[in-house]
Order: sequence, then structure tokens, then C-alpha cells
Amino acid sequence: MNPSSIRFRLAVWYAGVLAGILILFSIATYVGVRHFLARNVHEALVKDTQEVGSIVRENANERDEGAIGREVGEHYSPESGERAIRIVTAEGAPIYLSGPGEAFPPWNSSLAQDQPYDMTNHAADGQEYVIRTQAVAADSGKKYFVQVGASLSRNSEILEQLLAVLALALLLATAIAVTGGFFLIRSSLRPLDNMATRAQKITSRSLHERMPVSSTGDELQQLSISLNRMIERLEEAFHHITRFSADASHELRTPLTIMRGELETAVQNPKIDADVRETLGTVLEETVRLSKIVDQLLTMSRLDAGEAFLEVSRFDFSEMVRTTVEYIRLLADEKKLSLKVAAVEAIQVEGDQPRLQQVVVNLLDNAIKYTPEGGSVSVSVRAEEDKAVLTVTDTGIGISEDGQSHIFERFYRTDRARSRQLGGIGLGLSIVKSIGAAHGGRVSVESAEGRGSTFRFEIPRLLDKEEKPIPSEGQVLTPAKGSEIS
Ligand code: ADP
Repeated sequence: MNPSSIRFRLAVWYAGVLAGILILFSIATYVGVRHFLARNVHEALVKDTQEVGSIVRENANERDEGAIGREVGEHYSPESGERAIRIVTAEGAPIYLSGPGEAFPPWNSSLAQDQPYDMTNHAADGQEYVIRTQAVAADSGKKYFVQVGASLSRNSEILEQLLAVLALALLLATAIAVTGGFFLIRSSLRPLDNMATRAQKITSRSLHERMPVSSTGDELQQLSISLNRMIERLEEAFHHITRFSADASHELRTPLTIMRGELETAVQNPKIDADVRETLGTVLEETVRLSKIVDQLLTMSRLDAGEAFLEVSRFDFSEMVRTTVEYIRLLADEKKLSLKVAAVEAIQVEGDQPRLQQVVVNLLDNAIKYTPEGGSVSVSVRAEEDKAVLTVTDTGIGISEDGQSHIFERFYRTDRARSRQLGGIGLGLSIVKSIGAAHGGRVSVESAEGRGSTFRFEIPRLLDKEEKPIPSEGQVLTPAKGSEIS
């Protein structure tokens, strides 16, 4: 649980406010009930003291004061109830006492007041009593004090039970509210979660995708619509840029091809001066290099625009690699490099064959370029689980660790001077990477400076229904006769 998350903070706020309201409600209920019970006791005592008072008034007899007690006892049979009654003369002489006797404090003159009043007494039995005292004047003129007491223990019991019920209700209501609130908040934030997941998946290649729009008519719907409009504008801008580069590279190709043709003819023309022909030869070399750059830029921008994979077919990856290597063998021979290929097992893949051929060309071209004379380059194709894996290993100059983390970036060259001399502009490997990604595959490198490099390119292969994937170590195929040429 993350305490700074909006979900947690909302749940805590919600629970806090609800608990606060419930506590206020419980206090109000408790105070109200306590007041009501106290008033009930008071009213009952007022009624009883008045009734006892009228009995005293009617039965007061100078000679027989016991008549009062008998009459009160008859009316109230107090032993059966919880009420306590005490009657004393103005001088403090007790003439009647019933009910729990300890309810009353010992009589003293401070208790003798003309106006009726209530007081509380903590009795020796541990109970609390409310006692009402009222002065009564008999017809004979003699004054008596009537006291009626009632225990408050019943009220305390009721209040204790009420408190327990209120506390339990408070806890339960808060727990239910917190759990409910948590789920409520989670479900209201789910559209945001969905948007975040979708946004993470949207890359420059999938700008056609959009955020899910919930039709809730609230800020979340507004947000998803606004984000979708933003992605749309991005898509347009991106498309515009890639189209522009693709168009520009395409437009440059034709004049370059014409220039190249014209220069080739001129270079071979014996009527032209040898000096001029040499200059034209240099221009031709640069034009060839320029054509290469334009070709690579065109490929790159087409890959970016997602236009490059129109011809998807099923073919044998090993066979394609063997054929492509043979096209390039001449370059290796020129540099006196040994070029071995191990690709015998037929491995079916589904993809754009010309593009995958380009991968082989780019990797092999680099291996040849960056391996000094007399070195060796070996190419192998094998099946590993559900993948077709191509590795190109050379004994060339190798790549530093820092270089390895950048070589798949566009226009990155570890050694600009040497690279330029060799005709590279730093796009070959990013093209390989893009083609791999478009086929659901990847490319990686292992290299040690001065000792050589191994490039590994893998894409998913087609599995026969019965065929189980080969264990991950894979098996390097032993080259068949004729496929290994040194
Ligand atoms: P370039 O056209 O310059 O070769 P790449 O994208 O193909 O561009 O390669 C990027 C950089 O990676 C190169 O400039 C080179 O420094 C390095 N590189 C690529 N392949 C190898 C290799 N087989 N051996 C050593 N360095 C390599």
C-alpha cells in the first residue's frame, strides 16, 4: 500500500470524514438518551413526592404518627419496587423509611429546605441515587419532609449498552465504508490505469493506436479524448516527417543513378585526359558512397513509416542466408578473409525476405569492413526453441563496452574517421534493429576490443504442429559438405 497514492489518500479522507460524522452522531445520541432518562427519573420522583406528600398531609395525626407510615406503605408497597421513601419530622425524627435504606444520607438540618429539590447520593451499596426532598405542611400546622429516592443503576446499564452498540456500529460502518470506498475508488481509477497501460504500448510504430475512451461524460472521458487528439496530431506530424525523408531520399536516387552512369561511362572513355579521368574516378567513388547513404536513408525512413514490409512470405531462413553470403563472398576474398557459413538445417520463417537479406548483408558487410586482412568471419544459422538465430562472428577490431551500448543508435560510429573511410554512416545496424523489431525479433552484440565481435540476430520461426521447440542451449549445426568454404 502506497500512502502517497491518490487511492490511499482518498480512502483515508473518506473514512476519516465518515468516522467523524458517526462519532458526532453517537455523541449526540448518547447525550440525548442520557438527558431523556434523567428527565424520566425526575418526573417520576416529582409525581411520587407529591403523592406521598398529599398522603402525609391527609394522615398527619399528632397522637399517632405511625398512621402516615401505614398509609404510605399500603399505597406504595415500596419493598417490591426500587423506590426508597423516607419521611421525617421538621425536627429530624424519622417516622417512615422504606426501600433500600442506604439510599438516603443521614438526616441533618441542611437537608431541610422549604423548596423541593433534587440531589444525588452515592450510597454505601455502591449505587447512585437521585433523591427528591419536599417539605409538607399538615393541616395541623406541623411540618414534615418527604424524600423519595430512585436508583440510577438502571439508567447507567442502559447507557453502557447504548455506548457498546454505538461503538460497534461505528467500527462496522467505518470498516464497511473503507472497504467499499477502496473498491469504489479503484474502479473509478481503472480507466486511468487502462490509459497508462495503453500509453506505455504506444511507440512511434504504433501511433495509429488510441486510448480507450470511457463514456462516463466526466473529466476522465475528457482526458482520454484530449490524449487521443494529441496522439493524432503526433501521428500526423510523425507521418509528415517520415514521408518527407522518404520522398526526399527517393527523389535523390534518380539523379544520383544518372550521375553514376554518366561518370562510369566517362571514366572508361579513352578520349578523355587521364588526369580528368582520375578526378572523375574519385567523383564516381563519392557518388557511389552518396547513393549508398541515400539508399540507407530511404530504407530507414520507410521502416519508420511502417511501409517497408509489404511482401511477407514463408521461406527457408538458412537457404536465404547461404545465398546471400555467396553474393558477398567476393568482398571477403578481396580482403583475403576466410568466410565460413554453417547453415544446413531448413528453418522456416515468415517475413519480408528482401529485408531479412538486408540484415545479412549489413552484418556481414560490417564484419568484413572491420576485420583486418587475413582474419576470419563465420556465419551460422540454427534453431533455438521457437527462434531462428543468425550469428555473424569476426576476428576484427572489436567494439569497446561503451561503443556496444550505442552502435544500434542511428548515425552512431565508434570511429568516425575509419568508418567514413570505409564508407559507413552509422545506419546499417539501426536498420538491422528496426527490421528485427518489425519481425518480432532482436539483435545483440558481444565483443572484445582487438579480438572480434559476434552479432546475434533472432526472429520467431514457424513451428510444425508436432515439432517441439529445441532446448534453449540450441545446437550449432555442423556444416554440411559444400556449405563451409574457406
Ligand atoms: P557503419 O555504416 O558506420 O558501419 P553501422 O550502423 O553498421 O554503421 O555500425 C555502427 C558502428 O558500429 C560502426 O561505425 C562501427 O564502429 C561499429 N561496428 C559495427 N559492426 C562492427 C564489427 N563487426 N566490428 C567492429 N565494429 C563494428
